[in-house]
Amino acid sequence: MSLIDHYAQQLDALKQQGNLRQFTANRQQGRRIQIGGRQMLNLASNDYLGLASDIQLREQFFDETPNAQRWMSSSSSRLLTGNFPEYEQLEASLSRAFHGRAALLFNSGYHMNIGILPALSDSKTLILADKLVHASMIDGIRLSAAKYVRYRHNDLHHLAQLLQKYHEDEAFERIIVVTESIFSMDGDETDLAELVRIKKQFSKVMLYVDEAHAVGVRGAQGLGCAEQYGVIDEVDLIVGAFGKAMASIGGYLICHPVIRAYLINSMRPLIFSTALPPVCMAWTDFIFQKVLALNPQRQHLQRISQSLRQVVAAKGFDCPSSSHIVPVIIGESQKTVEKAQALQAAGFYIMPVRPPTVPQGSSRLRISLIASIEQAELDQLAALL
Ligand SMILES: *Cc1c(COP(=O)(O)O)cnc(C)c1O
Repeated sequence: MSLIDHYAQQLDALKQQGNLRQFTANRQQGRRIQIGGRQMLNLASNDYLGLASDIQLREQFFDETPNAQRWMSSSSSRLLTGNFPEYEQLEASLSRAFHGRAALLFNSGYHMNIGILPALSDSKTLILADKLVHASMIDGIRLSAAKYVRYRHNDLHHLAQLLQKYHEDEAFERIIVVTESIFSMDGDETDLAELVRIKKQFSKVMLYVDEAHAVGVRGAQGLGCAEQYGVIDEVDLIVGAFGKAMASIGGYLICHPVIRAYLINSMRPLIFSTALPPVCMAWTDFIFQKVLALNPQRQHLQRISQSLRQVVAAKGFDCPSSSHIVPVIIGESQKTVEKAQALQAAGFYIMPVRPPTVPQGSSRLRISLIASIEQAELDQLAALL
């Protein structure tokens, strides 16, 4: 067997299970996506507020930003010469919005999650993580020297039991509890107020909450579930990503200033990677200022999400979601792919999500609702499910 045959066989096996992944060429215009000559409403991106697809926003931004300020590369990490004013401005904006807490930017949500956890952990650290946290946090945990225990998904009672058990254990000087606020595949959410209440009973515990799917869409100003539940000051480490509702790129951390300074001295993906182009930071700040004022769109998104979730549940599907991410859990991969193809033929671009992204036997359609969807479109989608 040649070296290449080994990989070819594995690809064949994936194909037989209906789990082969491939890139798809597409063209996009506004909310619409064109694939293979077919125009569809795009319900597979994470552009929840429609800001990434809004051409007027881009025009306004570029009109306001002269070429001299459009740096397309920062040409080094921030610790060398990459720390352009756009970085400090965006961090200052975040800090102002998040009650004066410190803010730190990263090249992506993935960099952020694989970098922060290893930097803050050593062999005297225990990480307790929700069973369904995003792959980037799993990778961060794997890169760390911490001991790692998972708690049952969204089972805060189980978490409290584990905290009771390990908090007295002298092997651990600190415990980091890791979760998402809105989960990316089930669209369900952590009870952050209860999580904070539990954490406060234990002195060695820090909370790490990933708001990638909540920033922009939750809270009066779109700062995420931490704002919605009034716990911005109580979550030790709030992280989020700008690539979803925020229509940009990068990750951010809201934390204590000492943690920020420590990460600048220890976090490898921050130290050893070229910082994003300054123009991206300027764009993120531009979008961030807009997002603060989009509460009507957020409320609309909540209303239409609730109505779609009711339809999905009424059709007999399991519907764990309480957000704008609405999974339709079918089970078998091949069936899920076929259902997605039927919806696409009807003009709705919805993608199947299969293992290993989700557990075996829980393949699903993942509907990402967007604030600009109209009632008639929603009714038509509902009828097709
Ligand atoms: C998308 C996502 C990330 C990764 O963010 P990127 O900026 O896309 O790298 C991290 N965490 C969660 C929960 C996500 O959904």
